[in-house]
Amino acid sequence: MSSALSDQAVTEHSTLFIGGQWREPNGREKITVVSPNSGEEIGSVPLANRADIDAAVATARQAFDDPSVWSGLEPAERAAHLRRFADELEARGEKIASLVSSQNGMPVTIAGQMEAVYPATLLRYYSDLIEKQTPDLREGMMGGVVEVQRQPIGVVGAIVPWNYPQSLAAFKYAPALAAGCTMVIKPSPETVLDSVVLAEAAEAAGLPAGVVNIVPGGRDEGAYLVEHADIDKVAFTGSTAAGKKIAEVCGRLLRPVTLELGGKSASIVLDDAELDLETIGNDLFVSTLVNNGQTCFLGTRVLAPKSRYGEVVDALTAFAGSMAVGDSLDPATQIGPMATQTHLGRVEGYIEKGRSEGGRITTGGGRPEGRDGGWFVSPTVFADVNNSDTIAREEIFGPVLSVIQYDDDADAVRIANESEYGLGGTVWSSDPERARSVASRVNTGTIGINRYIPDPVAPFGGVKHSGMGRELGPEGLAAYQNLKSIYR
Ligand code: NAD
Repeated sequence: MSSALSDQAVTEHSTLFIGGQWREPNGREKITVVSPNSGEEIGSVPLANRADIDAAVATARQAFDDPSVWSGLEPAERAAHLRRFADELEARGEKIASLVSSQNGMPVTIAGQMEAVYPATLLRYYSDLIEKQTPDLREGMMGGVVEVQRQPIGVVGAIVPWNYPQSLAAFKYAPALAAGCTMVIKPSPETVLDSVVLAEAAEAAGLPAGVVNIVPGGRDEGAYLVEHADIDKVAFTGSTAAGKKIAEVCGRLLRPVTLELGGKSASIVLDDAELDLETIGNDLFVSTLVNNGQTCFLGTRVLAPKSRYGEVVDALTAFAGSMAVGDSLDPATQIGPMATQTHLGRVEGYIEKGRSEGGRITTGGGRPEGRDGGWFVSPTVFADVNNSDTIAREEIFGPVLSVIQYDDDADAVRIANESEYGLGGTVWSSDPERARSVASRVNTGTIGINRYIPDPVAPFGGVKHSGMGRELGPEGLAAYQNLKSIYR
């Protein structure tokens, strides 16, 4: 086991970051985190109970309602705070990467980019954006002038999943804080140790007390936060099942909500696609398997033309079979363990289901040899899958790809769209215009051509059961602003 992991074996935190202070929790319950590499305990934090959540929301409310604290600062002042916050996060990047990797099994090299760097990038991007927002004055049609103001929406309850705990929190807090909102962030119980570092960075950056508060907890604590009378907006990333429950509550309360949910995206390989793994390997990895398949946007339904079906299956088999599976903290690892033992069981259940429904496993299909201590599963490719099979319809959230045959481009688009989800996807082709035409016809919130990289400047989110609303881009900032028209 790597020394980085054993160094973290003793991380026991006893306080919660609320109102700019490290406070004793009101209850005695702890959240204990277990390493997916070894099954051993690696640390704990206090569980925030209802009284702690009440305190966090109250201090966020107070910080928001007093305009001299945050919401009424000049954009340049908030931006300066957020740039300091970015610096403090970046200074802790290595620690964040190894903590995330040791909790959820994300290969540490991926965590070093996505979790250690992306949040600071987003903070700087939204700092620039808020500084550039100019007064919106429109010449009225009824005489006079209309001023359209963008005002911060208020206190935001942010609920974050375990798969990218730092960057998905930043998808929310970076635009929300830039807009002038204050935050109560609830991390997922699987990844709470890194949330302590987030709080340390906020404190070191000198963010005013109450602007960022962190309440580690599970589903019940999340539900309590969503319903809390003093929350003005909910931002959620997680499963479609939880998203629907949250949407119901927010509907009843008429509370604005952004939902980033599950996916089952299509990687459409056109008949003129480049299949040389030397050339496309890294892009294929990021768009189909990154973070051990525990990524919402992955194109895990690979649609292959009849004329090249065998070739696509062979290429994916070689690609998935070549992956280095191992301890997530080892820099050589490409595929780490599943985040939890329960989740491993879920992924294994899907592999069994795929087999029983007639799928042909061409590589993987079980646990790798010599890795019994952790929650590992070998990257797995299923050939001969129908789009109606369970493994093609449901989100597996593991390193499992299904290869589905199609007749022509129109058939590929039809199959891609025959899904209850619509979050990501890719089109692979050597003809950019043809690829663009196919991409435009796929009913999805985002899609890549010959690669997939969510770009901070562009709205990210899904259609159908993949969610409502958008994060990132100027649209992600607008999601935390109320529009107010003053007829002058
Ligand atoms: P999850 O829905 O079980 O949990 C997500 C978060 O919500 C956790 O913090 C959890 O404690 C909390 N939660 C659960 N039920 C809740 C409820 N009823 N009310 C309030 N909070 C609740 O999801 P997960 O297993 O942690 O994450 C995996 C899922 O997240 C996958 O389905 C994946 O596709 C999705 N995801 C989506 C995106 C996206 O941007 N669309 C990104 C990453 C992950």
